[in-house]
Amino acid sequence: MKKIALHWKILIGMLLGILFGLGMTTFDFGPTFVGNWIKPLGTIFVNLLKLIAVPLIMASLIKGISDLKDISKFKNIGVRTIGIYVLTTVIAISLGLLLVNIAKPGEGISEATIEKLTQSYASSDGVRAKIAEATKQKTSGPLQFLVDMVPDNAFKAMSTNKAMLQVIFFTIFLGISMLLVGEEKSKPLKKFFDSLNEAILKMVDLIMLFAPYAVFALLANVVVSSNDPDLLIALLRYALTVVGGLALMVVVYMSLVAIFTKKNPVWFLKQLSPAQLLAFSTSSSAATLPVTMERVEEHIGVDKEVSSFVLPVGATINMDGTSLYQAVAAVFIAQALNFDLTFADQLTIIVTALLASIGSAAVPGAGMVMLVIVLEAVGFPADKLAIGLSLIFAVDRPLDMCRTVINVTGDATVASLVAKSVGKLGKPRPKNWDDNYEAVK
Ligand code: ASP
Repeated sequence: MKKIALHWKILIGMLLGILFGLGMTTFDFGPTFVGNWIKPLGTIFVNLLKLIAVPLIMASLIKGISDLKDISKFKNIGVRTIGIYVLTTVIAISLGLLLVNIAKPGEGISEATIEKLTQSYASSDGVRAKIAEATKQKTSGPLQFLVDMVPDNAFKAMSTNKAMLQVIFFTIFLGISMLLVGEEKSKPLKKFFDSLNEAILKMVDLIMLFAPYAVFALLANVVVSSNDPDLLIALLRYALTVVGGLALMVVVYMSLVAIFTKKNPVWFLKQLSPAQLLAFSTSSSAATLPVTMERVEEHIGVDKEVSSFVLPVGATINMDGTSLYQAVAAVFIAQALNFDLTFADQLTIIVTALLASIGSAAVPGAGMVMLVIVLEAVGFPADKLAIGLSLIFAVDRPLDMCRTVINVTGDATVASLVAKSVGKLGKPRPKNWDDNYEAVK
């Protein structure tokens, strides 16, 4: 019998999860049942992915750098990566601004809805937490991000998933030093990391066997914890503006892939689809990273020299979906609350949303924290921030799911473009979890 492709299995899991969640909302005990008995399956899966993120980044980056042989190539990859990341993010923000200025979703929202949303969310813990988090980020100096990148303890950095850039910094430092000590002396370390890398990629294959069941659990839980459907309908125009912008970003990526890598963009999306579906289900590009790396390397054919650097860095700093959303949400809030934005304000949004998306963590809901900073940059009154955020809070989770897909797709696209530009886009070489099973069973 022909095997069903992984992306189909995941899609079926997602669909059944949504249906099951909808069914459960009709029972009083439904949400508690899902929370106690279904959600943990999803949490275990996300934990498994996070579990392997740090060792995978380290092993594959060391392998990538040591395979490069000369350091100047690495500089080339680094400069191109950052350049294209900035470019795609600016495209995303401009697209968001264009759409929100044309569709004007904030003008269609009635006083009564604003009142209802404010009452429901303005003093809620969720909104307060976002503002508090943003205030914490804001009080740091302009070079703080550089300071934050350099760990004072390598093991401490490795022991938390929140310090990916620190881990990347330490690993690049180690990789370059390995090149400098010469092949003979770095051999044992290289062998160790090569072998670790193979084993961890196998772990990704094994974890993915569980993906269709996990997405069932994750989506059932999203459905039972979602908000009043009336509010969702009231915010439909805003939500559609964000989703429309995100969909256009897919067209941008597909065009870039077709023009610069000469690969079929539909094939490209199909190869990447399991990572995109997981991004949607988990709302976290960091949790999806191991799968993105596996898909881009093995199924799209990007060499490890490129993907091992471009993808982990991208997961942390390149968030096209998030920045597009921040632009649309900032203007939407301003429109709804009659706060006038000049052309200069819109330019400020481009710059701050770019910086905000770099500073946003790759976890659920992080984009909304940095939105506070975008709003403040255009002079939005601090006392109205809670009201502003409460307007978009109800639809944030579904939009987060969609923007995370775009964040991941953007990273994979840039990895392919950079790979092509340095001659490192080769043939896909997919591996399966059971390639060596017969020998050990
Ligand atoms: N959830 C997004 C991500 O992980 C970040 C955000 O927009 O909130 O990429």
